[in-house]
Amino acid sequence: MSRLADVVIVGGGVTGLCTAICLKQLGVKRVIILEKFYVGAGQSGRAAGIVRALVPHEKVATWQLQAQIFFKDFYSRFGVPLKVNQLGYLLRSSFQNEDRVALAIDVANRIGSQAKRINLAEAADLQPGLRLDAESIYAFEPGAIQIDPMPATFALACVARQLGVEIIEDCAVGDILVDGSSICGVASSIGRFEAPRLMIASGAWGAQQLSKIGVNLPIYPHRAEMAFFHAPLVGGETLCRIVSDGITQLYLRPEGRDQMFVGWREGDFVNNLSCIVRENPDDYKQIITPARLVDMQHRLVSTLPYMKSGFMHRTYTCIYDYSPDGQPVLDEVDKLTGLYFALGFSGGGFSVAPCVGQAMAEYITTGLRPANIKWLSLSRFSEGRSIQWSNSTGEIKL
Ligand SMILES: Cc1cc2nc3c(=O)[nH]c(=O)nc-3n(C[C@H](O)[C@H](O)[C@H](O)COP(=O)(O)OP(=O)(O)OC[C@H]3O[C@@H](n4cnc5c(N)ncnc54)[C@H](O)[C@@H]3O)c2cc1C
Repeated sequence: MSRLADVVIVGGGVTGLCTAICLKQLGVKRVIILEKFYVGAGQSGRAAGIVRALVPHEKVATWQLQAQIFFKDFYSRFGVPLKVNQLGYLLRSSFQNEDRVALAIDVANRIGSQAKRINLAEAADLQPGLRLDAESIYAFEPGAIQIDPMPATFALACVARQLGVEIIEDCAVGDILVDGSSICGVASSIGRFEAPRLMIASGAWGAQQLSKIGVNLPIYPHRAEMAFFHAPLVGGETLCRIVSDGITQLYLRPEGRDQMFVGWREGDFVNNLSCIVRENPDDYKQIITPARLVDMQHRLVSTLPYMKSGFMHRTYTCIYDYSPDGQPVLDEVDKLTGLYFALGFSGGGFSVAPCVGQAMAEYITTGLRPANIKWLSLSRFSEGRSIQWSNSTGEIKL
């Protein structure tokens, strides 16, 4: 027997959950999220959870600042508790990227964040033990936050459920069902769901799902490698800020008192499609390769010299949904009424999810593309409007 809905969303990550919440706020009656595993099982539960606005692109920065506000106000807005760590974001970069960093600071200040260039003494004060050298420049955004991604995703699911969204876990969507030139639902592991509107928010799986109905997106599963390191057992140094080092190409944030999350600034590496490490999101190596770990450790000591006496605690990997310009694709499928998708977040989807959810909900309910997401349409790639953006190192992707 099939179930009926007004909107079906495939994927119980932050993108699908934020969209579902906004759909309910817009008055849509029956919203169902189908999640093949559990809420947060994709990237959402495994993210670093950093939300900063110090980026050299005004629209991206604006969305990220709005996400900071969204998460900081989460409890007062929804009544669901969410721990938000306002740690501040400390950026180290090389002098050759001075213009780029100045642009990011200018953008952040223009949109209402309070980022600024800082000197060596200020950097040392903000993050004791950070490498300080006269060849580097430093900037700081005090309002940047970090949230534990799994509780945050779960909190979004609580809000969605409170608003009446039905979230069905352990339900794998198979075929997308089409009736003539319109969407009519999906087939899943527990039966059919009929709906006139369908949103694909399934991250690294999304492009493959759409390719089955002949929709080919330039979005690729890219395997990223992360590690947790433990501070030295003797000495008492700890990481207390979110640190992004454009020179070693690592980013860090505290994990409890004694550990830190260490990830690669993928945006510094993925400058063309040959850099994509393509792997099957259903079957990929779950731990970091030894050579990369040695490299990471070496770079970490360069960023935080005291970590020479620290040690690796554990590693993990995850599959990003990478787009050619490192920004998401928010669109609908041409010539097929009712099929929407929000994919290609390229490792940055957590901090744009609240704005993406709002825009996609408006798109789905009105059928009209909101003006504030036109820059993220699929056609930008064929029309030469790829987004010129980077992690503030100066490189421009594709
Ligand atoms: C290590 C790491 C660090 C990150 N750090 C940050 C950060 O600091 N800041 C930031 O902004 N972003 C960060 N990101 C990126 C961010 O986590 C993602 O962009 C975001 O979570 C994507 O959310 P999503 O809902 O689009 O996809 P996902 O969270 O991947 O959700 C997709 C869901 O779809 C489900 N699904 C797939 N196929 C099917 C199917 N057939 N049927 C039903 N369900 C299906 C999956 O099980 C999954 O739960 C990071 C990502 C990683 C991996």
